[in-house]
Amino acid sequence: MKSTMQPYQLTVTSLMHHGARLFGGTSEVITWRGDKARHATYAEVAERAARLANALCLMGVKPGDRVATLAWNNQEHLEAYLAIPCMGAVLHTLNLRLTPQQLVHIVNDAKDKVIIVDGSLVPLLAAIREHVPTVEHVIVFGEGDTGKLGDHVTYDDVIAAQPSTYDWPEIEEDSAAAMCYTTGTTGDPKGVVYSHRAIWLHCFGVWGAFRLDERERLLVIVPMFHVNAWGIPYVAWMLGCTLLLPDRFLQPEPLCAFITAERPTFTGGVPTIFTGMLQYAQANNADLSSIKRAICGGSAVPRALIEAFRDKLDIELIQAWGMTETSPIGCIATPPPGVPVEEEMDWRSKTGRAVPGVDLRIVGDDGGELPWDGRSVGELEARGPWITGSYYGVEAPERFHDGWLRTGDVGVIDSRGYLQITDRSKDVIKSGGEWISSVELENHLAAHPAVAEAAVVGVADAKWEERPLAAVVLRPGAEAGPEDLRNFLDGKVARWWLPERWTFVTELPKTSVGKQDKKVIRQLYTDGKLDVQEVGKAAR
Ligand code: AMP
Repeated sequence: MKSTMQPYQLTVTSLMHHGARLFGGTSEVITWRGDKARHATYAEVAERAARLANALCLMGVKPGDRVATLAWNNQEHLEAYLAIPCMGAVLHTLNLRLTPQQLVHIVNDAKDKVIIVDGSLVPLLAAIREHVPTVEHVIVFGEGDTGKLGDHVTYDDVIAAQPSTYDWPEIEEDSAAAMCYTTGTTGDPKGVVYSHRAIWLHCFGVWGAFRLDERERLLVIVPMFHVNAWGIPYVAWMLGCTLLLPDRFLQPEPLCAFITAERPTFTGGVPTIFTGMLQYAQANNADLSSIKRAICGGSAVPRALIEAFRDKLDIELIQAWGMTETSPIGCIATPPPGVPVEEEMDWRSKTGRAVPGVDLRIVGDDGGELPWDGRSVGELEARGPWITGSYYGVEAPERFHDGWLRTGDVGVIDSRGYLQITDRSKDVIKSGGEWISSVELENHLAAHPAVAEAAVVGVADAKWEERPLAAVVLRPGAEAGPEDLRNFLDGKVARWWLPERWTFVTELPKTSVGKQDKKVIRQLYTDGKLDVQEVGKAAR
């Protein structure tokens, strides 16, 4: 028997209309300029999104075409978030922390037709422009040196010339709305494509999990180029929260100035940002008192950080877990009701419990599901309506298991359903919320004439959560020091990837099948059993 319900399609367009209609004149989008803020009402943003859709249509953008953004968190980026999916095209957010080579790969892989670029990021685009032949139009907003960019148009000019309404099409909920690339263990980044339906349902999941409503002033620190800023812009828009966008001013000083000036009540970001914010606020007596709650994730959140936020700033810092492949919200770590106050922190410092709509399980080496006993360690697998079932244009059967996504995270689940991630099977390092590929660093190091073998692992770092440690075996009789190898890598990978920690060993630990045993290297480092030399500083 079929239901009597309407076949209503779950689309970003419905979220956009809801936000614009209900909150058009009352809620705002506020972008920080470093010393002052730029305010726009929801109605103004919606109107500019309609103008942008008209402009893109005139440029030949058709349903399904990819339109990329290379931008910080700001009003124009939000306009693109609304216009592109709602006109039936696909929003492709480019991660500005990627190397030029990776950017070239993903723009070509996605076959982006148009790129909307932030003026401050024009040099990055200019450097790759001639290598991305599918891009027919470049639209620049904000100030920037466009001298070397070649053909382009100016955002404000093109939208000013367009009608203020757009005939938004009917869209099927399974159509692609947005895409984002994830840094894989090996090889090039892989594309994840979000449907309208997935974004819609994810918004409802986030709404409940983050306990949001119209009264919140929501500061979006997590980048809009990284998993749609955890879906926060869409859920905020849907609920009418005033959105506070920090643009490129992510250093503690200007960020705290923005907070003091515009008084957000809620925010979300990676631990590195919050660690910097805490230190700055304490040293400078910055007023962060408007913030009541903050979601923190993207890397394991140290218990000490959650405690310091509670004790020093009176902010509830809530850990969440997710991935590009999971839209991203999968888990949230709020304590169960009824636990004594002194035990609350034990629950908050776990990775969290699945949000409704997400199924999680832990699987052992033999592929069998492990019990939720808090002891059995296995790989975390996930499934649900906002979890990817494949990657864009590539077969990756090893990433899926009977319809579940293999996350590459390793951990335990206890009898109450709380997940604790204890390790990572994927060979990547997460530094300040963005990925460093250990495999790529190893490949470059192996090309140095003095290097016989190299392994790069992620180790704990007080500021960046994780940084790479390079363990190197030199060829017999060859000589090379950390500085030589760092200089050798410089220019081949992004500067912020260069390891500061180096250790030279006579052999690398291996597993039974002869693979480098990175777990053992990490353990040796943690136990202080490696002779580590430090050179240089992590740069961003
Ligand atoms: P990304 O696809 O860049 O968002 O990265 C997703 C990965 O970040 C996950 O698979 C985890 O390895 C890591 N991650 C995210 N949140 C957490 C967390 N709360 N604790 C530990 N690791 C996390």
